[in-house]
Amino acid sequence: MNKNRTIVPFDVTLAERGLAIDRMPIDVLQINVGKVCNQACHHCHVDAGPKRTEVMAAATIERLINLLEHTPGVTTVDITGGAPELNPNFRMLVRGARALGKRVIDRCNLTVLLQSGQEGTAEFLAEQGVAIVASLPCYSKGNVDSQRGRGVFDESIVALKKLNALGYGSPEGELELDLVYNPVGPSLPPPQLTLQADYKRELDEHFGVRFNRLLAITNMPISRFLHDLQRQGQYEQYMTTLLNAFNPTAARGVMCRTMLSVSWDGLLFDCDFNQMLDIPVGGHRRSIWDISRLDDLEHMPLAFGDHCYGCTAGAGSSCGGSLTR
Ligand code: SF4
Ligand code: SF4
Repeated sequence: MNKNRTIVPFDVTLAERGLAIDRMPIDVLQINVGKVCNQACHHCHVDAGPKRTEVMAAATIERLINLLEHTPGVTTVDITGGAPELNPNFRMLVRGARALGKRVIDRCNLTVLLQSGQEGTAEFLAEQGVAIVASLPCYSKGNVDSQRGRGVFDESIVALKKLNALGYGSPEGELELDLVYNPVGPSLPPPQLTLQADYKRELDEHFGVRFNRLLAITNMPISRFLHDLQRQGQYEQYMTTLLNAFNPTAARGVMCRTMLSVSWDGLLFDCDFNQMLDIPVGGHRRSIWDISRLDDLEHMPLAFGDHCYGCTAGAGSSCGGSLTR
């Protein structure tokens, strides 16, 4: 990301607060299976879209399943993209990870479930017991369509109803359906639980849609969102907002402490954001063919940058939502 001299570097802030944030045992393997997506959202930190061509190959997925087999400490496989379901090897990855007893998360944009060629994907996810984390940045049509494209809200509701009919999102059931909120503009998310109550009420009342949890995620100042900020002259103001809201408790809970992230071509990173910024684990490019277990790099220091203020502002932010209450 662009450096701005008025922003105190993230590592300086950590040092000033006496915070030494080290890696802990890796629990989550996050796999970015490619940048192809049926949408092209304004805030997308992956710059994903229909014209992208990067797709994780079958051989890479086979290698990851082999590494998962040799790393029992990793309990969760978190599949992201792009739209992960558009990778032709998506089902192979899901089946392989589930056969090893791993919890599998599909980061789903919802509309992909209605695309031609995706018939049966929702049913497949339910059969495999895959947890779904679905983007829905608002319960109002106008806000969703302005961020994610015209018609996305209506299609998202159709997809949510389909998932509900399969048993997703029921408080009594085992098929988890979480929704993801992120602010439309350059502000911090409101408190997660308050917003969750609003989402539950509005989606139930107007559409009869159920879900389990709402995850409130801060927009990271990278990729498409960064370019938007710069175009509108809001970059410095947004970074100042994040810096002023620095929360040491959130900093102690950042997700990279227990996560390893793999790119579509098998390279290793601390998180999906570092992946997009091409900041490799430990400062050196390594791939899944350079390690024999996923926890081989646990001794490496984390690679922080100023974008990390996005994870530590306010209640904190991660792929699992807020880091504090
Ligand atoms: S649906 Fe997700 S991956 Fe696709 S463009 Fe939107 S934010 Fe990016
Ligand atoms: S952006 Fe920084 S703080 Fe957040 S998960 Fe990645 S490395 Fe950790």
